[in-house]
Amino acid sequence: MRRYDVAIVGGGVIGMACAEALSRAGQSVCIVEKGELGRGASWAGGGMLCPLPPDHVPEPIRELLAESLALYPEWCARLQRESGIDPEYWECGADYIKNDGRHIEYPRLAQVRNPRLMKALAGTLRARGVSVREHSTALGWIEADGVVNGVRTTRGDIACGKAVLAAGAWSAALGADDVRPAKGQMLLLRSTPGHLPRMLIGDEVYLIPRRDGHILVGSTIEDVGFDVAPTAAARTHLLARAVRLWPPAAGLPLVAHWAGLRPRLAGDGPALGPHPRTGGLWLATGHFRIGLTLAPASAARIAAQFTN
Ligand SMILES: Cc1cc2nc3c(=O)[nH]c(=O)nc-3n(C[C@H](O)[C@H](O)[C@H](O)COP(=O)(O)OP(=O)(O)OC[C@H]3O[C@@H](n4cnc5c(N)ncnc54)[C@H](O)[C@@H]3O)c2cc1C
Repeated sequence: MRRYDVAIVGGGVIGMACAEALSRAGQSVCIVEKGELGRGASWAGGGMLCPLPPDHVPEPIRELLAESLALYPEWCARLQRESGIDPEYWECGADYIKNDGRHIEYPRLAQVRNPRLMKALAGTLRARGVSVREHSTALGWIEADGVVNGVRTTRGDIACGKAVLAAGAWSAALGADDVRPAKGQMLLLRSTPGHLPRMLIGDEVYLIPRRDGHILVGSTIEDVGFDVAPTAAARTHLLARAVRLWPPAAGLPLVAHWAGLRPRLAGDGPALGPHPRTGGLWLATGHFRIGLTLAPASAARIAAQFTN
């Protein structure tokens, strides 16, 4: 059986970003995904960089956030070069309109078209020769003397030197005990390019215009387990808040409505380091509302721990 330097469980933005960073650092990498790469929370999200007003970002992750924002433009350019797919990194700016009427401008706030970013990452991993195992569910870790040296999957065992758990909202089943799913629902409206020129953030909803004129409206935060069914109540709630924030939204056709599961971890930030009890296993999970934003710096931190 081939032995990889690193096996990564979970093919979302975090697992794929780690795979890219580790492969660039010269490690042989295998990534295990129960469905298809990039179809979990990372596909469902909004792609705002970052989705929280700066004063709402918890202190412990401000440094990680600043690092990630600095890495983003070059990261996207590299993924585009290697995959041929443009993740549509766009510094379109944002206006934050608070409920009390105060207005704060963020002229450089950027977004990425996350479904495209997922395709660019997947294409890059394949181009780099990362072993991609889709439709393979990780069932548990294989250990020798208490140290992980493999992953047991529904499609056979994978031998590895080290393992990374990046299974998003599902991470508790594989040892990140405190990670819980937090459902987020999102609407997609159809408009014309430039109708809403930059992102609009309110205290309850946000609107993200894509370059092709579509506008995303997000999102809810619900504690309902692993249920991803969109609900009429959330649709009504999001539409009403969107119209209050930006009245022209009232006339726009609704073209899609979906939900995803954020990996929520008690405390302020993601887990990005060795598992507290299991040797050979690293955690890269718990990014909750800002995993798309924090992906490149999270991956850089994991790669630095493996290669320094
Ligand atoms: C509605 C919504 C809006 C959001 N908006 C933003 C935003 O604007 N900006 C931002 O920065 N963040 C946003 N987020 C948060 C962001 O999407 C997440 O933090 C991020 O996607 C988490 O990435 P991940 O790779 O950990 O999880 P995921 O993308 O969910 O990936 C985890 C993967 O692991 C796989 N997996 C799970 N268990 C197993 C197993 N046993 N074996 C194999 N594979 C397994 C899953 O199938 C999945 O593909 C939003 C999230 C939602 C839901």
